[in-house]
Amino acid sequence: MSSRDVNVSRSMRLKGSGAGLRRPAVGAVLARRDVAVLVEEHGHQAVLEAVRTAVAELETGASEAQVAGRAASLLTAQPRRLHRVINGTGIVIHTNLGRAPLGAEIAARAGQVAAGYSNLELDERGGRRGDRQDLLSSLLCQLGGAEAALVVNNGAAAVLLALAALCRGHEVVVSRGEAIEIGGGFRIPDILRLSGARLVDVGTTNRTRTSDYQAACGPRTAAFLRVHQSNFSMSGFVSRPELGELATAAHERGLLLLEDVGSGLVPPAGPATAAEDRLSHSIAAGVDLLFCSGDKLVGGSQAGIILGRTDLVARLRRHPLARALRPDKLQLAVLEETMLRYAIPGRLGEIPVWRMLQLTAQELRSRSQGWVEALAGFGVGAVLVPLEGALGGGTTPGPKLPSFGILVEDAHPGRLRRRLLAGAPPVLGLERQEGVAVDARCVLPGEDEALLVAIRAACGGGD
Ligand SMILES: *Cc1c(COP(=O)(O)O)cnc(C)c1O
Repeated sequence: MSSRDVNVSRSMRLKGSGAGLRRPAVGAVLARRDVAVLVEEHGHQAVLEAVRTAVAELETGASEAQVAGRAASLLTAQPRRLHRVINGTGIVIHTNLGRAPLGAEIAARAGQVAAGYSNLELDERGGRRGDRQDLLSSLLCQLGGAEAALVVNNGAAAVLLALAALCRGHEVVVSRGEAIEIGGGFRIPDILRLSGARLVDVGTTNRTRTSDYQAACGPRTAAFLRVHQSNFSMSGFVSRPELGELATAAHERGLLLLEDVGSGLVPPAGPATAAEDRLSHSIAAGVDLLFCSGDKLVGGSQAGIILGRTDLVARLRRHPLARALRPDKLQLAVLEETMLRYAIPGRLGEIPVWRMLQLTAQELRSRSQGWVEALAGFGVGAVLVPLEGALGGGTTPGPKLPSFGILVEDAHPGRLRRRLLAGAPPVLGLERQEGVAVDARCVLPGEDEALLVAIRAACGGGD
């Protein structure tokens, strides 16, 4: 007899000991076919606990079917496993939704590598231990126009490693307009302190000049650090030096120019992206080392990409923190597959982030029109609406993405939004006064059918 059988029979005895009106026995409920299905999804222990709770909660005399039903709703109310969500927000890089979605082909190829043994650290020519970064770094160098590259676990790790390896015990000059918080606890002053470097902030919140950086230099200064204002924008009386000018000022004094570019952009700039956000732009302007995330506009896995001078990258590789912050094979495989698609002509479209950014309002309009018609066929009232999407949190707040979508009309928009989110698959929409809107841009190809079924179910129709 296994320990779980012991648990079940003990609880059966306890529940069965009262006289008169009886409660259903836990064991009998667990033996039901509909409960066996729950076990397959949630595991035995979770179902056992839910059934016990349901038995205790319900009145004596409740049926086994009622207990099973209550247990099922307790289980679905629990935090669930990671699962897919349809992104109806029009926000391309949505941190709450896992940032960049991976292309099916990219995920499949990376999955194949990860499902078996791989040449992660095998030098196939010599049969000896190789470096897990070799394959990827040449691609990254090529795409970013840099001498050397290194990949770590995420963007924050890249900044931490570089500051610890290059600036520990020294001063780093940062503009007051760039001593920022990204969210999730990533604050530039904190990362600097943690790395053992000392922050010297210069200029003012809205304006910082090259001369401010120059005036702050002393015998202990190691670097200027430039940081992308990823999640806020300032307008009006604002200025900051050109990157090239700052590079010259740093190099004249034998200092480094480091840049935390945040999102990072690999391909040619598109309608909503600026040429100066490209990684190659920063390198060409004279940045010695830059850092960006792998899962923002780059469109790959969670990773911190470091590009720049060979001697500096070598120092980072040798630093003990590099081992603590290293990426795993799945991250590397996804990033490598993604970078290959940037490098091979005609394959950019396999990177979902890139494809979504290229979609025109006209394309989104006709897709949305199809949804309106299909929903009308189900008896669900929806209308075509123009919407405005965004690149998303942690990339750059400025540009809006003119878009189209549908508005599912409902007198209780809050309730409909929650129902959509609790559906299968869950849909994250935009609450409006007259209902819930779904922006078509980030609904992936192949999700149309599931979206329509989910909307119909949330509106009370369907099976
Ligand atoms: C997003 C971001 C980071 C953090 O990168 P993660 O990959 O999320 O760790 C750091 N700096 C800037 C400017 C960012 O935009």
